[in-house]
Amino acid sequence: MELRFYNSYSRQIEDFRPIEPGKVRMYHCGPTVYQRPHIGNYRAFLFADLLRRVFEAYGFEVQQVMNLTDVGHLLNDADEGEDKLEAQARKDQVDPWQIVETVSQQFFADLDALGVRPAHHYPRASDHIPEMVTIIEALIEKGHAYRVGDNVYFDVSTFPRYGQLSGNKVEELEAGARLEINEEKRHPADFALWKSDPKHIMKWATVFGEHGFPGWHIECSAMAEKYLGKHFDIHTGGEDNVFPHHECEIAQSEAANEQTFVNLWMHTRFLQVDGGKMSKSLGNVYSLDDLAERGYSAWDYRFLVLRGHYRTQVNFTWEILRSAKESRAKLADWRSRLQAAMRGGAADSPASIGAVTTARQAFDAAIADDLNTPEAVAALFTLRNELVHAGETGTGTSEAALALLDHADAVLGLFEPTADASEDPNALSDAQVEALIAERAEVRAAKNWARADEIRDALQAAGIVLEDTASGVHWHRS
Ligand code: AMP
Ligand code: ZN
Repeated sequence: MELRFYNSYSRQIEDFRPIEPGKVRMYHCGPTVYQRPHIGNYRAFLFADLLRRVFEAYGFEVQQVMNLTDVGHLLNDADEGEDKLEAQARKDQVDPWQIVETVSQQFFADLDALGVRPAHHYPRASDHIPEMVTIIEALIEKGHAYRVGDNVYFDVSTFPRYGQLSGNKVEELEAGARLEINEEKRHPADFALWKSDPKHIMKWATVFGEHGFPGWHIECSAMAEKYLGKHFDIHTGGEDNVFPHHECEIAQSEAANEQTFVNLWMHTRFLQVDGGKMSKSLGNVYSLDDLAERGYSAWDYRFLVLRGHYRTQVNFTWEILRSAKESRAKLADWRSRLQAAMRGGAADSPASIGAVTTARQAFDAAIADDLNTPEAVAALFTLRNELVHAGETGTGTSEAALALLDHADAVLGLFEPTADASEDPNALSDAQVEALIAERAEVRAAKNWARADEIRDALQAAGIVLEDTASGVHWHRS
């Protein structure tokens, strides 16, 4: 299947051509681990997971890297100001490295709750200082960077493509940046590769001096190159990463390596909350725990995100989350009914088998068209409504529809995996359920109501829903 994606760099939808046939290498900007990521951050990470799942479902071998930023990301994403981690550590009166540990653990637990497939590497910036120093030295050597005391800056005037990704023009940046006075820089648009500050807690002795720490952008250039090579397929982030972060990564990596860094740049729009920005003062910066407290699973949030296209703004309200939860429950319920129908063995209608094929084509076409997840989900509902309306419960139709739901689940991540049946003392296998239902029919025929009730209770405790219909007893798991 031909996949097509919007490339932020060319500003066009392009056919996807991997560098190595059948393989995809991708890098995603991960969290700055100073606070537990909020649901907005998870929109960006769910987008990375969507790409991973799509490539795997369509037969690609994927190498996926997501970094953890544990140093060098300054407040305001700029070259001046306090490090986000150190500012948080000062507020909490703890060691910044302690925050790194705590937040990283929360992050991994959240990814797991969201059903995100683990990336192949989660490198931490602080573990890659030597790799960053190597690139910075190459940039100095090639005349793209200059030292001022123990600081090192990238000279944007040496890289004519600077501004290509974001559409910023260096002259305009200079005009706009005049207020930020930094006498050390040759041009206001130059950015820091390495900074020196004896007061910094997270610091390293290198060839540039005793008390240094990296600029935020060089971290991703170094980690991406280490795990994916100098030239790889896809780099993603949220829309705020376009400038300055990714613009600066391109400049550093391409100037140092004298070749294209990334073929395809992809960015997801921000999640909005109550139609606006999330902010502490509005009290609407939510974590997955806040959702759980109100009875929503991380998978409901995942579904809310999938119902929007990654390049459109998605709004979060409790009402929208409730509707996402209901919709997802409808799909899960439909799946249980299909499973029950398959066991029931009713006859098929060729017309409904055709409807499943059409739905599968619509689903795949939507995904291939720059990841149109809302249309892909709509294709599933169209089929559901058609089959449910027609009262269709044929075995073959159910099997085909279930295969489509399995495929959709692999691509989108729709159904929360159920707990391991062996851990649940009440769990029953399909065969045990069938046997109990048969026994119930017998005891009812013999008017042994006590035993019949006992069986119904046991089935209920195991989450089995019975439906007595004209064509016999049907069952599904709740
Ligand atoms: P940070 O922890 O600030 O480095 O951000 C981690 C990732 O979350 C980056 O890719 C950001 O672009 C992304 N991000 C931050 N806020 C939002 C939001 N409201 N919606 C979507 N992505 C976001
Ligand atoms: Zn990054």
